[in-house]
Amino acid sequence: MSAFDQHDQHRNNLLQELGIGPVWQLRHHGSTPAEAPDPVVARMSVEAGELKSPPSLTPELAAQSSRPQVMPQEEAMPQQRAAQAEAKPKPVTEAETVAEADTDTDTSLVSAMSWEVLQPVVESCRACGLCKGRSKSVFGTGDRRATWLFVGEGPGYNENLQGLPFVGAAGQLLDNMLKALGLARGDQTYIANIVKCRPTDENGKDRPPTADEIAACLPYLHRQIALIQPQVIVALGKTAAVSLLGMNLETPVGQLRGKLHHFNDIPLVVTYHPAYLLRKPADKSKAWVDLCMAMQAMPAN
Ligand code: SF4
Repeated sequence: MSAFDQHDQHRNNLLQELGIGPVWQLRHHGSTPAEAPDPVVARMSVEAGELKSPPSLTPELAAQSSRPQVMPQEEAMPQQRAAQAEAKPKPVTEAETVAEADTDTDTSLVSAMSWEVLQPVVESCRACGLCKGRSKSVFGTGDRRATWLFVGEGPGYNENLQGLPFVGAAGQLLDNMLKALGLARGDQTYIANIVKCRPTDENGKDRPPTADEIAACLPYLHRQIALIQPQVIVALGKTAAVSLLGMNLETPVGQLRGKLHHFNDIPLVVTYHPAYLLRKPADKSKAWVDLCMAMQAMPAN
C-alpha cells in the first residue's frame, strides 16, 4: 500500500467518525495531499468567483447596535509578521484599564495589547451585560501562532463552567473535524468565540449574543486574530460569520457557505456550527465540503 493509499485509508476512518464517508475525501491525483485538487472544491472555487474585499468591519452590525461603531485596527499581513513581532506594544498599564471602563471596550487600548495583557483583561471584563451571569469567561485556546483559526458563537453551559471553548459533544465533533483535516486542537489551530461570556435568556438557556454584546466583545477577537495572524479562518455558524464579515445578523448561513470570503485579507470560509451538525447530521457532508474549501484556500508556502 502506497503512502497516499495509507493516508486515504486513515482519512476514510476519520470521515467515518464524522459520519460522512469516504465519498468526500480529497483526491490526490499523484500530487501531495496538500496540493491535491478536489473536483468538488475546484468546482466550488470557480463558482465562488466573487471574492469579498476586506470587510470594513461591522458597518451593518454597528447599524444594528446602539453603541458607537467599533472599527478594527488595520492589521499587518503575514510578511510583516516579523516586523510586527519586533515592534514594541504601546504600554498598556493594565487589565483594569479596560475592565474599569465598564460599559465600552476601548478599542484603541485593546488593539495594542499583548497576549499577557489581553487575557486577564478579558477575564475581568465588564464591558457588556454578559459579565453578570458568567462563571468563567472563555478566552480561547490553542496555538498562538496557529495557521488555522476556528471561530464559534459564544460559550454554552459547559464552556462557562470550564472556561474553555467547545467542550462536550459539540467539542468532540469539532475535534473530529480537525482530525479529518489532519489537525488537532492546539496544534496549528486556535479556537475562539465571537463573545467571551455565555449569553443566556430569562430562563437561563443559551441564546445568540445581541448586536450590542457582539460589538462590545469583538475587539478582543480582532486583537487575537492580529496576534495569531492565521492563514485561514473557519467561521462556525452564522453568528461567527456575519460578525467577522460585518453583515446583517439575519443573513442565513446558506447564503454564506460555498463562497470564499476574506477578513483583512485572510481567507475566511463559513461552515455549520458543530452543535447544529449534531442536530442535523445529514449536513455533515456539506461541512466537509466547506472544510475542503478552507484547505484549498490556505496560501501555499
Ligand atoms: S462578553 Fe466580552 S465584552 Fe461582554 S463582558 Fe464578556 S468579555 Fe466583556
